[in-house]
Amino acid sequence: MQNYLGPEGVLAKRKQYFYPCTSHFYRNPPQLVKGEMQYLYGHDGTCYTDFFAGVSVVAGGHCNPEIVKRTAEQLGTLQHTCTIYLTQPNVELAERLAGVLPGELSRTFFVNSGSEANEGALLLARLHTGRKGFLALEQGLHGRTHLTMSVTGLRMWRSDPQLAELGADADVTFIPRPYERGMNADEAARRSIDALKAVLAEKGGDIAAMIVEPIQGNGGIIVPPDWYFPEVKALLEQYGVLLIADEIQTGFGRTGRMFAMDRWGVTPDIVTMAKALGSGVPVAAFASTDAIAASFTRPSASTFGGNPVSSVTALAVLDYIEAHHLPERAERLGGLLLAGLKDVAARYPHVVSEVRGAGLMIGAELCADDAERGALMADDVLEEMKDRGFIIGKNGVGRNVLAFQPPLVITEDDIAEMLVALERSLDAVHEARGGKDNGVRP
Ligand code: PMP
Repeated sequence: MQNYLGPEGVLAKRKQYFYPCTSHFYRNPPQLVKGEMQYLYGHDGTCYTDFFAGVSVVAGGHCNPEIVKRTAEQLGTLQHTCTIYLTQPNVELAERLAGVLPGELSRTFFVNSGSEANEGALLLARLHTGRKGFLALEQGLHGRTHLTMSVTGLRMWRSDPQLAELGADADVTFIPRPYERGMNADEAARRSIDALKAVLAEKGGDIAAMIVEPIQGNGGIIVPPDWYFPEVKALLEQYGVLLIADEIQTGFGRTGRMFAMDRWGVTPDIVTMAKALGSGVPVAAFASTDAIAASFTRPSASTFGGNPVSSVTALAVLDYIEAHHLPERAERLGGLLLAGLKDVAARYPHVVSEVRGAGLMIGAELCADDAERGALMADDVLEEMKDRGFIIGKNGVGRNVLAFQPPLVITEDDIAEMLVALERSLDAVHEARGGKDNGVRP
Protein backbone atom coordinates (compact mmCIF):
# COMPACT_ATOMS: atom_id res chain seq x y z
CA MET A 1 0.00 0.00 0.00
CA GLN A 2 1.21 3.49 -0.73
CA ASN A 3 2.18 5.88 2.02
CA TYR A 4 -1.24 7.47 2.49
CA LEU A 5 -1.83 10.21 5.02
CA GLY A 6 -5.17 8.64 5.91
CA PRO A 7 -8.34 10.67 6.54
CA GLU A 8 -7.06 12.29 9.74
CA GLY A 9 -3.83 13.35 8.08
CA VAL A 10 -5.66 14.80 5.09
CA LEU A 11 -8.15 16.59 7.32
CA ALA A 12 -5.34 18.11 9.40
CA LYS A 13 -3.63 19.50 6.31
CA ARG A 14 -6.92 20.82 4.89
CA LYS A 15 -7.53 22.56 8.21
CA GLN A 16 -4.08 24.12 8.16
CA TYR A 17 -3.70 25.07 4.50
CA PHE A 18 -7.13 25.33 2.83
CA TYR A 19 -9.39 28.33 3.15
CA PRO A 20 -11.48 27.81 6.28
CA CYS A 21 -14.72 27.89 4.24
CA THR A 22 -13.80 24.60 2.49
CA SER A 23 -16.37 22.00 3.49
CA HIS A 24 -16.52 18.23 3.19
CA PHE A 25 -19.11 15.48 3.48
CA TYR A 26 -19.15 13.00 6.38
CA ARG A 27 -18.22 13.03 10.05
CA ASN A 28 -15.71 10.28 9.32
CA PRO A 29 -14.79 10.82 5.70
CA PRO A 30 -12.79 8.25 3.78
CA GLN A 31 -9.62 9.21 1.91
CA LEU A 32 -10.45 8.31 -1.67
CA VAL A 33 -7.49 7.09 -3.67
CA LYS A 34 -8.81 5.24 -6.70
CA GLY A 35 -11.77 5.14 -9.07
CA GLU A 36 -12.96 2.40 -11.39
CA MET A 37 -16.18 3.07 -13.35
CA GLN A 38 -18.99 3.21 -10.74
CA TYR A 39 -16.64 2.32 -7.88
CA LEU A 40 -14.40 4.39 -5.62
CA TYR A 41 -11.76 3.02 -3.26
CA GLY A 42 -10.58 4.29 0.11
CA HIS A 43 -6.92 4.31 1.20
CA ASP A 44 -7.57 1.12 3.18
CA GLY A 45 -8.95 -0.69 0.14
CA THR A 46 -12.64 -0.27 1.00
CA CYS A 47 -14.79 -0.25 -2.13
CA TYR A 48 -17.69 2.20 -2.42
CA THR A 49 -20.36 2.17 -5.11
CA ASP A 50 -20.63 5.80 -6.14
CA PHE A 51 -24.17 7.18 -6.39
CA PHE A 52 -23.09 10.80 -6.63
CA ALA A 53 -20.50 10.77 -9.46
CA GLY A 54 -18.49 13.61 -7.96
CA VAL A 55 -21.62 15.78 -8.14
CA SER A 56 -22.74 14.54 -11.57
CA VAL A 57 -19.31 14.69 -13.18
CA VAL A 58 -18.25 11.19 -14.17
CA ALA A 59 -21.15 10.22 -16.45
CA GLY A 60 -19.08 7.47 -18.08
CA GLY A 61 -17.63 6.30 -14.78
CA HIS A 62 -14.38 6.90 -12.93
CA CYS A 63 -11.16 6.39 -14.90
CA ASN A 64 -13.13 4.89 -17.77
CA PRO A 65 -10.40 3.09 -19.77
CA GLU A 66 -11.87 4.10 -23.15
CA ILE A 67 -11.71 7.77 -22.16
CA VAL A 68 -8.48 7.69 -20.15
CA LYS A 69 -6.58 6.02 -22.98
CA ARG A 70 -7.28 8.91 -25.31
CA THR A 71 -6.56 11.53 -22.62
CA ALA A 72 -3.22 9.86 -21.85
CA GLU A 73 -2.27 9.62 -25.54
CA GLN A 74 -2.96 13.32 -25.98
CA LEU A 75 -1.03 14.16 -22.80
CA GLY A 76 1.99 12.45 -24.31
CA THR A 77 1.60 14.05 -27.74
CA LEU A 78 0.62 17.71 -27.42
CA GLN A 79 -0.27 18.84 -23.94
CA HIS A 80 -0.87 22.50 -24.38
CA THR A 81 -1.15 25.42 -26.70
CA CYS A 82 -3.50 28.32 -26.33
CA THR A 83 -6.41 28.97 -28.74
CA ILE A 84 -4.13 31.52 -30.43
CA TYR A 85 -2.50 28.52 -32.15
CA LEU A 86 -4.26 26.12 -34.47
CA THR A 87 -4.98 22.65 -33.14
CA GLN A 88 -7.54 20.08 -34.22
CA PRO A 89 -9.20 18.65 -31.08
CA ASN A 90 -10.96 21.87 -30.06
CA VAL A 91 -12.46 22.52 -33.51
CA GLU A 92 -13.63 18.92 -33.68
CA LEU A 93 -15.18 19.29 -30.24
CA ALA A 94 -16.93 22.55 -31.19
CA GLU A 95 -18.31 20.89 -34.32
CA ARG A 96 -19.45 17.91 -32.30
CA LEU A 97 -21.21 20.10 -29.74
CA ALA A 98 -22.98 21.99 -32.52
CA GLY A 99 -24.32 18.61 -33.59
CA VAL A 100 -25.82 17.72 -30.21
CA LEU A 101 -26.96 21.17 -29.06
CA PRO A 102 -30.52 22.17 -29.99
CA GLY A 103 -31.56 24.63 -32.70
CA GLU A 104 -29.03 27.03 -34.14
CA LEU A 105 -26.61 26.87 -31.22
CA SER A 106 -23.52 26.27 -33.29
CA ARG A 107 -20.87 28.51 -31.67
CA THR A 108 -18.87 27.42 -28.65
CA PHE A 109 -16.46 29.32 -26.40
CA PHE A 110 -14.33 27.00 -24.26
CA VAL A 111 -13.44 27.70 -20.64
CA ASN A 112 -12.51 25.60 -17.61
CA SER A 113 -15.27 25.47 -15.03
CA GLY A 114 -18.99 25.83 -14.65
CA SER A 115 -18.64 29.19 -12.91
CA GLU A 116 -16.52 30.50 -15.75
CA ALA A 117 -19.01 29.27 -18.35
CA ASN A 118 -21.91 31.03 -16.59
CA GLU A 119 -19.82 34.17 -16.06
CA GLY A 120 -19.12 34.22 -19.80
CA ALA A 121 -22.78 33.60 -20.66
CA LEU A 122 -23.95 36.46 -18.42
CA LEU A 123 -21.37 38.83 -19.88
CA LEU A 124 -22.33 37.75 -23.39
CA ALA A 125 -26.02 38.39 -22.68
CA ARG A 126 -25.22 41.92 -21.50
CA LEU A 127 -23.05 42.61 -24.52
CA HIS A 128 -25.65 41.28 -26.92
CA THR A 129 -28.67 43.06 -25.48
CA GLY A 130 -27.01 46.21 -24.19
CA ARG A 131 -28.99 45.69 -20.99
CA LYS A 132 -27.72 45.16 -17.46
CA GLY A 133 -30.35 43.29 -15.42
CA PHE A 134 -30.69 39.57 -14.83
CA LEU A 135 -33.49 37.28 -13.74
CA ALA A 136 -32.83 34.06 -11.85
CA LEU A 137 -34.85 31.46 -10.00
CA GLU A 138 -34.92 31.34 -6.23
CA GLN A 139 -32.86 28.45 -4.83
CA GLY A 140 -30.76 28.16 -7.99
CA LEU A 141 -26.98 27.76 -8.00
CA HIS A 142 -24.75 29.09 -10.75
CA GLY A 143 -21.22 29.38 -9.41
CA ARG A 144 -18.57 30.90 -7.21
CA THR A 145 -17.46 33.97 -9.14
CA HIS A 146 -18.81 37.38 -8.22
CA LEU A 147 -21.47 37.62 -10.93
CA THR A 148 -22.51 33.96 -10.84
CA MET A 149 -22.83 34.15 -7.07
CA SER A 150 -25.07 37.20 -7.49
CA VAL A 151 -27.53 35.20 -9.62
CA THR A 152 -27.39 32.27 -7.20
CA GLY A 153 -30.56 32.10 -5.15
CA LEU A 154 -29.37 29.56 -2.60
CA ARG A 155 -28.21 31.52 0.43
CA MET A 156 -25.59 29.00 1.51
CA TRP A 157 -23.65 29.50 -1.74
CA ARG A 158 -23.54 33.28 -1.48
CA SER A 159 -21.17 35.56 0.42
CA ASP A 160 -24.05 37.48 1.91
CA PRO A 161 -24.37 39.62 3.87
CA GLN A 162 -20.90 40.99 3.17
CA LEU A 163 -21.58 41.60 -0.51
CA ALA A 164 -24.95 43.20 0.15
CA GLU A 165 -23.34 45.53 2.69
CA LEU A 166 -20.83 46.57 0.07
CA GLY A 167 -23.67 47.19 -2.37
CA ALA A 168 -21.77 44.90 -4.69
CA ASP A 169 -24.60 42.71 -5.91
CA ALA A 170 -25.42 42.73 -9.59
CA ASP A 171 -28.85 43.89 -10.76
CA VAL A 172 -30.71 40.62 -10.20
CA THR A 173 -34.39 39.91 -9.65
CA PHE A 174 -35.28 36.52 -8.27
CA ILE A 175 -38.44 34.73 -9.39
CA PRO A 176 -40.05 32.02 -7.23
CA ARG A 177 -39.05 28.62 -8.53
CA PRO A 178 -41.71 26.33 -9.98
CA TYR A 179 -41.98 24.30 -6.80
CA GLU A 180 -43.30 24.76 -3.30
CA ARG A 181 -43.64 22.00 -0.74
CA GLY A 182 -47.30 21.19 -0.22
CA MET A 183 -48.41 23.14 -3.28
CA ASN A 184 -49.78 21.47 -6.39
CA ALA A 185 -47.00 21.37 -9.06
CA ASP A 186 -48.99 23.29 -11.66
CA GLU A 187 -50.03 25.89 -9.12
CA ALA A 188 -46.43 26.48 -8.03
CA ALA A 189 -45.29 26.76 -11.64
CA ARG A 190 -48.17 29.13 -12.41
CA ARG A 191 -47.16 31.32 -9.47
CA SER A 192 -43.62 31.45 -10.88
CA ILE A 193 -44.92 32.43 -14.35
CA ASP A 194 -47.16 35.12 -12.86
CA ALA A 195 -44.19 36.60 -10.98
CA LEU A 196 -42.11 36.50 -14.16
CA LYS A 197 -44.88 38.27 -16.11
CA ALA A 198 -45.09 41.00 -13.49
CA VAL A 199 -41.34 41.63 -13.47
CA LEU A 200 -41.17 41.67 -17.27
CA ALA A 201 -44.07 44.09 -17.49
CA GLU A 202 -42.33 46.39 -15.02
CA LYS A 203 -38.76 46.31 -16.32
CA GLY A 204 -38.43 43.73 -19.12
CA GLY A 205 -36.65 46.31 -21.28
CA ASP A 206 -33.78 46.53 -18.75
CA ILE A 207 -33.17 42.81 -18.50
CA ALA A 208 -30.46 41.06 -20.47
CA ALA A 209 -31.15 37.43 -19.57
CA MET A 210 -32.81 34.94 -17.30
CA ILE A 211 -30.49 32.20 -16.08
CA VAL A 212 -32.00 28.88 -14.96
CA GLU A 213 -31.07 25.32 -14.16
CA PRO A 214 -33.60 23.25 -16.15
CA ILE A 215 -33.74 20.91 -13.17
CA GLN A 216 -32.36 22.50 -10.03
CA GLY A 217 -29.57 20.38 -8.58
CA ASN A 218 -28.32 21.88 -5.36
CA GLY A 219 -31.78 23.33 -4.74
CA GLY A 220 -33.02 19.78 -4.09
CA ILE A 221 -33.71 18.25 -7.55
CA ILE A 222 -36.70 20.21 -8.79
CA VAL A 223 -38.35 19.10 -12.04
CA PRO A 224 -40.92 21.65 -13.29
CA PRO A 225 -44.14 20.65 -15.07
CA ASP A 226 -43.67 20.06 -18.82
CA TRP A 227 -45.40 23.29 -19.83
CA TYR A 228 -43.26 25.55 -17.62
CA PHE A 229 -40.09 26.22 -19.63
CA PRO A 230 -41.82 26.53 -23.03
CA GLU A 231 -43.96 29.24 -21.44
CA VAL A 232 -40.95 30.94 -19.83
CA LYS A 233 -39.14 31.02 -23.18
CA ALA A 234 -42.15 32.48 -25.01
CA LEU A 235 -42.55 35.21 -22.38
CA LEU A 236 -38.86 36.15 -22.44
CA GLU A 237 -38.95 36.39 -26.24
CA GLN A 238 -41.73 38.97 -26.05
CA TYR A 239 -39.33 41.26 -24.17
CA GLY A 240 -36.11 40.39 -25.99
CA VAL A 241 -34.71 38.77 -22.83
CA LEU A 242 -32.28 35.89 -23.47
CA LEU A 243 -32.69 32.51 -21.81
CA ILE A 244 -29.46 31.02 -20.44
CA ALA A 245 -29.82 27.31 -19.64
CA ASP A 246 -27.25 26.23 -17.06
CA GLU A 247 -26.92 22.57 -18.08
CA ILE A 248 -23.83 22.13 -15.93
CA GLN A 249 -25.39 19.39 -13.78
CA THR A 250 -28.07 18.25 -16.16
CA GLY A 251 -26.16 18.06 -19.45
CA PHE A 252 -24.80 15.03 -21.30
CA GLY A 253 -27.40 12.41 -20.67
CA ARG A 254 -27.98 12.59 -16.94
CA THR A 255 -31.68 13.40 -17.09
CA GLY A 256 -32.49 10.92 -19.85
CA ARG A 257 -31.86 13.40 -22.68
CA MET A 258 -28.60 14.86 -23.98
CA PHE A 259 -29.69 18.18 -22.42
CA ALA A 260 -32.53 18.55 -19.94
CA MET A 261 -34.20 21.31 -21.97
CA ASP A 262 -34.55 18.79 -24.84
CA ARG A 263 -37.25 17.09 -22.76
CA TRP A 264 -39.47 20.11 -23.27
CA GLY A 265 -38.36 21.02 -26.79
CA VAL A 266 -36.98 24.35 -25.57
CA THR A 267 -34.03 25.93 -27.37
CA PRO A 268 -32.29 28.38 -25.04
CA ASP A 269 -30.33 31.34 -26.40
CA ILE A 270 -27.20 30.31 -24.50
CA VAL A 271 -26.35 26.92 -23.01
CA THR A 272 -23.61 26.46 -20.43
CA MET A 273 -21.82 23.14 -19.96
CA ALA A 274 -19.14 21.73 -17.66
CA LYS A 275 -18.93 18.75 -15.26
CA ALA A 276 -19.81 15.62 -17.28
CA LEU A 277 -18.34 17.02 -20.49
CA GLY A 278 -14.83 16.31 -19.19
CA SER A 279 -15.52 13.29 -16.98
CA GLY A 280 -13.14 14.70 -14.36
CA VAL A 281 -10.83 16.67 -16.66
CA PRO A 282 -11.64 20.39 -16.47
CA VAL A 283 -13.51 21.49 -19.58
CA ALA A 284 -16.46 23.84 -19.81
CA ALA A 285 -18.13 25.92 -22.46
CA PHE A 286 -20.92 28.29 -23.35
CA ALA A 287 -22.69 27.96 -26.67
CA SER A 288 -24.94 30.31 -28.60
CA THR A 289 -26.12 31.27 -32.07
CA ASP A 290 -24.08 33.08 -34.73
CA ALA A 291 -25.82 36.36 -34.00
CA ILE A 292 -25.32 36.24 -30.24
CA ALA A 293 -21.74 34.99 -30.49
CA ALA A 294 -20.90 37.94 -32.72
CA SER A 295 -21.50 40.28 -29.77
CA PHE A 296 -18.58 38.75 -27.85
CA THR A 297 -15.57 40.66 -29.02
CA ARG A 298 -13.22 40.38 -26.05
CA PRO A 299 -11.62 38.36 -24.48
CA SER A 300 -10.72 36.49 -27.63
CA ALA A 301 -8.71 33.66 -26.13
CA SER A 302 -8.45 31.54 -23.00
CA THR A 303 -5.18 30.05 -21.79
CA PHE A 304 -6.62 26.67 -20.88
CA GLY A 305 -10.04 26.84 -22.57
CA GLY A 306 -10.09 24.39 -25.48
CA ASN A 307 -6.69 22.91 -24.67
CA PRO A 308 -5.87 19.69 -26.52
CA VAL A 309 -6.03 17.38 -23.50
CA SER A 310 -9.44 18.62 -22.32
CA SER A 311 -10.80 18.68 -25.87
CA VAL A 312 -9.70 15.13 -26.67
CA THR A 313 -11.14 13.97 -23.36
CA ALA A 314 -14.48 15.63 -24.11
CA LEU A 315 -14.54 14.05 -27.57
CA ALA A 316 -13.91 10.66 -25.96
CA VAL A 317 -16.72 11.36 -23.47
CA LEU A 318 -19.15 12.21 -26.29
CA ASP A 319 -18.10 9.07 -28.19
CA TYR A 320 -18.68 6.99 -25.08
CA ILE A 321 -22.07 8.57 -24.35
CA GLU A 322 -23.18 7.88 -27.91
CA ALA A 323 -21.75 4.38 -28.24
CA HIS A 324 -23.27 3.26 -24.96
CA HIS A 325 -26.57 5.17 -25.37
CA LEU A 326 -26.15 6.76 -21.96
CA PRO A 327 -29.16 9.12 -22.13
CA GLU A 328 -31.47 6.16 -22.85
CA ARG A 329 -29.72 4.18 -20.14
CA ALA A 330 -30.21 7.04 -17.66
CA GLU A 331 -33.90 7.18 -18.55
CA ARG A 332 -34.38 3.42 -18.09
CA LEU A 333 -32.29 2.94 -14.94
CA GLY A 334 -33.57 6.22 -13.56
CA GLY A 335 -37.08 4.83 -13.83
CA LEU A 336 -36.03 1.80 -11.78
CA LEU A 337 -34.26 3.91 -9.19
CA LEU A 338 -37.20 6.31 -8.90
CA ALA A 339 -39.66 3.43 -8.44
CA GLY A 340 -37.36 1.76 -5.89
CA LEU A 341 -36.97 4.96 -3.88
CA LYS A 342 -40.73 5.53 -3.97
CA ASP A 343 -41.15 2.04 -2.48
CA VAL A 344 -38.74 2.96 0.29
CA ALA A 345 -40.65 6.20 0.84
CA ALA A 346 -43.89 4.24 1.15
CA ARG A 347 -42.32 2.06 3.86
CA TYR A 348 -40.78 4.99 5.78
CA PRO A 349 -43.48 7.61 5.32
CA HIS A 350 -42.50 9.74 8.30
CA VAL A 351 -38.93 10.16 7.13
CA VAL A 352 -38.95 10.10 3.33
CA SER A 353 -41.43 12.84 2.44
CA GLU A 354 -40.99 12.99 -1.30
CA VAL A 355 -39.02 11.37 -4.13
CA ARG A 356 -38.57 13.30 -7.38
CA GLY A 357 -36.29 13.58 -10.38
CA ALA A 358 -35.65 12.75 -14.01
CA GLY A 359 -33.32 10.12 -15.40
CA LEU A 360 -30.45 9.47 -13.00
CA MET A 361 -30.90 12.75 -11.15
CA ILE A 362 -33.15 11.90 -8.22
CA GLY A 363 -33.73 13.40 -4.81
CA ALA A 364 -35.40 11.96 -1.73
CA GLU A 365 -36.43 14.65 0.71
CA LEU A 366 -36.31 13.73 4.39
CA CYS A 367 -38.74 15.14 6.95
CA ALA A 368 -39.82 17.96 4.69
CA ASP A 369 -41.94 19.55 7.41
CA ASP A 370 -38.99 19.70 9.80
CA ALA A 371 -35.97 20.38 7.62
CA GLU A 372 -33.63 20.70 10.60
CA ARG A 373 -34.46 17.19 11.72
CA GLY A 374 -34.29 16.10 8.07
CA ALA A 375 -30.80 17.55 7.69
CA LEU A 376 -29.53 15.70 10.77
CA MET A 377 -31.18 12.56 9.47
CA ALA A 378 -29.63 13.05 6.02
CA ASP A 379 -26.17 13.33 7.61
CA ASP A 380 -26.79 10.14 9.59
CA VAL A 381 -28.05 8.29 6.52
CA LEU A 382 -25.09 9.44 4.42
CA GLU A 383 -22.71 8.17 7.10
CA GLU A 384 -24.53 4.84 7.41
CA MET A 385 -24.59 4.40 3.64
CA LYS A 386 -20.87 5.11 3.41
CA ASP A 387 -20.19 2.53 6.10
CA ARG A 388 -22.23 0.07 4.03
CA GLY A 389 -20.19 0.86 0.93
CA PHE A 390 -22.38 3.43 -0.86
CA ILE A 391 -21.59 7.07 -1.58
CA ILE A 392 -24.75 9.13 -1.95
CA GLY A 393 -25.11 12.90 -1.98
CA LYS A 394 -27.22 15.50 -0.23
CA ASN A 395 -28.57 18.87 -1.26
CA GLY A 396 -31.69 21.00 -0.94
CA VAL A 397 -32.46 24.33 0.68
CA GLY A 398 -32.46 22.68 4.12
CA ARG A 399 -29.71 20.16 3.18
CA ASN A 400 -32.29 17.46 3.87
CA VAL A 401 -32.53 15.91 0.42
CA LEU A 402 -30.65 12.69 -0.31
CA ALA A 403 -29.23 12.98 -3.82
CA PHE A 404 -28.82 10.05 -6.20
CA GLN A 405 -26.82 11.11 -9.25
CA PRO A 406 -24.65 8.08 -10.05
CA PRO A 407 -22.34 7.54 -13.00
CA LEU A 408 -24.61 6.60 -15.91
CA VAL A 409 -22.82 3.23 -16.16
CA ILE A 410 -24.41 2.09 -12.91
CA THR A 411 -26.18 -1.30 -13.16
CA GLU A 412 -29.54 -2.68 -12.08
CA ASP A 413 -27.74 -4.80 -9.48
CA ASP A 414 -25.99 -1.74 -8.04
CA ILE A 415 -29.37 -0.04 -7.71
CA ALA A 416 -30.98 -3.06 -6.05
CA GLU A 417 -28.10 -3.37 -3.57
CA MET A 418 -28.13 0.33 -2.82
CA LEU A 419 -31.87 0.26 -2.06
CA VAL A 420 -31.37 -2.58 0.44
CA ALA A 421 -28.53 -0.65 2.08
CA LEU A 422 -30.74 2.44 2.23
CA GLU A 423 -33.46 0.62 4.16
CA ARG A 424 -30.89 -0.86 6.52
CA SER A 425 -29.42 2.60 7.00
CA LEU A 426 -32.82 4.06 7.84
CA ASP A 427 -33.30 1.24 10.36
CA ALA A 428 -29.85 1.82 11.85
CA VAL A 429 -30.56 5.53 12.23
CA HIS A 430 -33.78 4.52 13.97
CA GLU A 431 -31.92 2.28 16.42
CA ALA A 432 -29.22 4.86 17.05
CA ARG A 433 -31.96 7.31 18.01
CA GLY A 434 -33.34 4.99 20.65
CA GLY A 435 -35.83 3.31 18.34
CA LYS A 436 -37.74 6.54 17.88
CA ASP A 437 -36.95 7.86 14.50
CA ASN A 438 -36.96 5.46 11.58
CA GLY A 439 -39.98 7.09 10.13
CA VAL A 440 -42.20 4.04 10.12
CA ARG A 441 -43.88 5.55 13.13
CA PRO A 442 -44.20 9.29 13.79
N1 PMP B 1 -23.99 25.56 -12.11
C1 PMP B 1 -24.49 24.46 -11.52
C2 PMP B 1 -25.89 24.04 -11.83
C3 PMP B 1 -23.69 23.72 -10.64
O1 PMP B 1 -24.19 22.63 -10.05
C4 PMP B 1 -22.36 24.15 -10.38
C5 PMP B 1 -21.45 23.40 -9.43
N2 PMP B 1 -22.04 22.62 -8.46
C6 PMP B 1 -21.89 25.30 -11.02
C7 PMP B 1 -22.73 25.98 -11.88
C8 PMP B 1 -20.49 25.78 -10.79
O2 PMP B 1 -19.59 24.95 -11.45
P1 PMP B 1 -18.05 24.92 -11.05
O3 PMP B 1 -17.94 24.39 -9.67
O4 PMP B 1 -17.42 24.02 -12.10
O5 PMP B 1 -17.53 26.32 -11.17
